[in-house]
Amino acid sequence: MNPAPPNYDVLVLGAGLAGISTALALGGGYRLVERESRPGGLCRTEVRDGFAFDATGHWLHLRDPDVRALAQEVLPDGWVTVQRRASIWSHGVFTRYPYQVNTHGLPPAVVAENVLGFIAAHLGEGGRALRERLPQDFSEFVLRHLGEGIARNFMFPYNEKLWTVPASELTIEWMGRFVPRPTLEQVVRGALGLEGDGDGYNATFLYPRQGGIETFVRALTARLPRAPECGVRALSIDPVRKVARLSTGEEVRYRAVVSSIPLPEMAELVQGAPPHVREAARSLRAATVTYVNVAARDVGGPPWHWVYLPEARLRPYRVGSASAAVPSLAPEGFRSFYVEMSGRDPVPPAEAERAAIEALATLGMIASPSDVRFAEVRTIPGAYVIHDRAYGPARQTVCRWLAEHDVLVAGRSGSWEYSSMEDALLGGREAARRLK
Ligand SMILES: Cc1cc2nc3c(=O)[nH]c(=O)nc-3n(C[C@H](O)[C@H](O)[C@H](O)COP(=O)(O)OP(=O)(O)OC[C@H]3O[C@@H](n4cnc5c(N)ncnc54)[C@H](O)[C@@H]3O)c2cc1C
Repeated sequence: MNPAPPNYDVLVLGAGLAGISTALALGGGYRLVERESRPGGLCRTEVRDGFAFDATGHWLHLRDPDVRALAQEVLPDGWVTVQRRASIWSHGVFTRYPYQVNTHGLPPAVVAENVLGFIAAHLGEGGRALRERLPQDFSEFVLRHLGEGIARNFMFPYNEKLWTVPASELTIEWMGRFVPRPTLEQVVRGALGLEGDGDGYNATFLYPRQGGIETFVRALTARLPRAPECGVRALSIDPVRKVARLSTGEEVRYRAVVSSIPLPEMAELVQGAPPHVREAARSLRAATVTYVNVAARDVGGPPWHWVYLPEARLRPYRVGSASAAVPSLAPEGFRSFYVEMSGRDPVPPAEAERAAIEALATLGMIASPSDVRFAEVRTIPGAYVIHDRAYGPARQTVCRWLAEHDVLVAGRSGSWEYSSMEDALLGGREAARRLK
């Protein structure tokens, strides 16, 4: 007779921030398994020749006092606070982020279109009444709250590049704090060059003093009473017997599962999902990000930490420089860049590298391709969950069915949402709280 599988109270799948946070909050009685060779998920840092690259920009914007206290506790004196330097590049000039309150410097005809469009949206016929009605989709929101000019010159082209679908296919669920809603006064002052730079949810951020964002992951992991088991993949879950099969060949019995692995994958893993749940899981879509890490000579280019690229003539949607924010991330005399492109599928590596170097040269971040010491292409499948009309009901169907079978979800991948590192930490803590 086979021996009974070992018993664990909670099986936590995935050791990104959500899984680690779940385990920390549980404080024991769990088993945390991670498919990759080390923990961190999206918060891992690659080091090469003195350059440290995160999976594109990973800046810590904290709102929650407990998360702030946790960050300080695990890395005392290990943080720098950085004042955001973010911009938009369009019509051949840089303007400060957020676009809607910093249009000064753009060609006058574009500024006029933006301001007049905003005024028409706000003061035009039925403006207020229209704004008080819940918009049907993101496109309607932008037109009503920001106007036609800002829609055409920034909001539509940028968001369509990022999300890979027209603005009319997106709902407004994901927006929250991510899309600042200015007043008319701010828009007018911004058009005249009078608005400050402190707007938006991310005016300052924290970042580890040394070693990239993974330094934070290592500090959190060191606090765990039981280390994550890396190189171990969950293969299937039998929700009736409450037994999980792992890639080690083991079977593990559990009371509950907390899953921080991508929700559509989780729905496949759990056996016996009825057809409507499988169908809902299959309708969940996401954009893949292809990004290029670039190590280059410092040519004294623009000092931006990141730059949004709304125009179609450049393939990437954003370019950033981690070492511009935290110089220890690149050797003296060099700068590190990340260049991000979105698509339904990965961008072929040669094409991605060419587009990245073209963008850096166009922005003056490098003087010529010969300034590049090396470039490496990476992909993030499922990077941006597409919040289309199917998303809300489909996600709810899958999550509810999983919860009925004692599988809770947490984090950006697990909950299948557009959210931050802080949200992942909070999501993990909340899952643990529900189980306790
Ligand atoms: C391009 C991009 C830029 C971002 N920039 C920022 C930023 O500047 N600031 C910010 O706060 N947030 C940012 N984020 C968001 C942030 O990265 C995430 O919110 C956070 O890291 C999510 O952590 P998680 O644990 O929920 O998911 P993940 O990090 O995806 O962790 C899931 C883990 O599950 C593991 N796994 C998968 N399948 C299995 C399996 N079958 N068995 C076992 N393990 C498995 C994976 O290997 C992974 O380690 C960004 C995200 C992206 C995509």
